[in-house]
Amino acid sequence: METILFLAHTDADGALPRLAREALSGALALAGELGGAGISVGLVGGALEGAAAAIAGCGADRFLGVAGEEFVVSRYASDAAAAEAIVRACEPTVVLAPGTSRFSRSLPGVAERVAGRIDTHVTAVGVVGGAVQIERWYYRQRMVARLTRTQRPWFILIDAGVFDPWMGASGSADLETLSVNLPGGLRTRVIGEEAASVGAQTIRPDADLLFVAGAGWTKKQADGTTHVKEAEALILEFLEKSQASLGSSKSLVDQSGEGHDVLSFMTHLNQVGQTGSTPRHPKGLATCCHGEEPHVVGWRFIKERRAVNLDPACGWAQGKADVLYVADAFEVMARVNELLGQG
Ligand SMILES: Cc1cc2nc3c(=O)[nH]c(=O)nc-3n(C[C@H](O)[C@H](O)[C@H](O)COP(=O)(O)OP(=O)(O)OC[C@H]3O[C@@H](n4cnc5c(N)ncnc54)[C@H](O)[C@@H]3O)c2cc1C
Repeated sequence: METILFLAHTDADGALPRLAREALSGALALAGELGGAGISVGLVGGALEGAAAAIAGCGADRFLGVAGEEFVVSRYASDAAAAEAIVRACEPTVVLAPGTSRFSRSLPGVAERVAGRIDTHVTAVGVVGGAVQIERWYYRQRMVARLTRTQRPWFILIDAGVFDPWMGASGSADLETLSVNLPGGLRTRVIGEEAASVGAQTIRPDADLLFVAGAGWTKKQADGTTHVKEAEALILEFLEKSQASLGSSKSLVDQSGEGHDVLSFMTHLNQVGQTGSTPRHPKGLATCCHGEEPHVVGWRFIKERRAVNLDPACGWAQGKADVLYVADAFEVMARVNELLGQG
């Protein structure tokens, strides 16, 4: 008989990240498929009362937590010690957790400490023939595999966008707080956070929208000249107002190496596609991007796709987008920014 631990950390403000609520939906669905397996909640963070209360109505048997100043921030030593203490206290066979960067770094070590196994980037979890089965992709999202394991505890890190976030009733949870002996003198002190990309933090895996900019933003426009500074301003204003995540076509990010005018905040990390990333967002909007197959293959997990292109015969029109706006992206985004400003 499986017993499930849903493990999550809070954000710095004490709330659960959206991805944690998504993983909770997955854990509850799995418990249901297992015929009502026991489920516990384990939380790590500064103060946990708010987070525990927010998901009090999820029907968990136990709420365990490791709280305190040392657990507000992401740090391998303290996160691993906290998660290990929770796992040892409730001895689950399956641990479901959100695939945040914080847990992706710390939980593999915890799995090793408790002689378990871990799978990351899991895109589905269910029960087949009485056994827990997961799905994950390999080889740059080209091959999908479904696996089971006999080793327990089995840690399963769920990718973003796989489940809808759990939005059940809040209430009051009976939180059991565990004390953890941190390794003597934590060597890593977190003194702040700095965005990895220069200027603006543009990659936001939790965003509702992926905004893709293509090379068209830097090409000569109808007046015979380029408008790169204007493009930069329009895109940054939109990103700031919408909090969308920024993706790019390969052509656009490659331009910097070829001495062309470039968007200063764009790096190869933004590239979406066959040789780039395959992000997960509920919606995507491509602008000034042709929609060629090597690019669109990176949109596999974007649920609703729209594109703005001057060319009615562009790749997006060939069945790759749900909606294609045949229009000038400069005009469209200026108007969109104006409308967002009014909201
Ligand atoms: C092995 C291989 C791997 C590849 N991997 C990737 C990958 O991972 N990711 C990727 O993106 N590409 C990849 N490519 C390249 C891909 O095939 C395309 O060349 C690239 O995606 C084209 O980028 P683009 O659409 O931005 O540029 P372009 O093809 O130059 O398209 C620009 C578009 O902008 C439009 N436009 C211009 N001005 C405006 C305006 N004012 N308003 C609206 N629209 C406008 C034009 O109509 C045009 O459609 C790969 C290619 C190969 C061979």
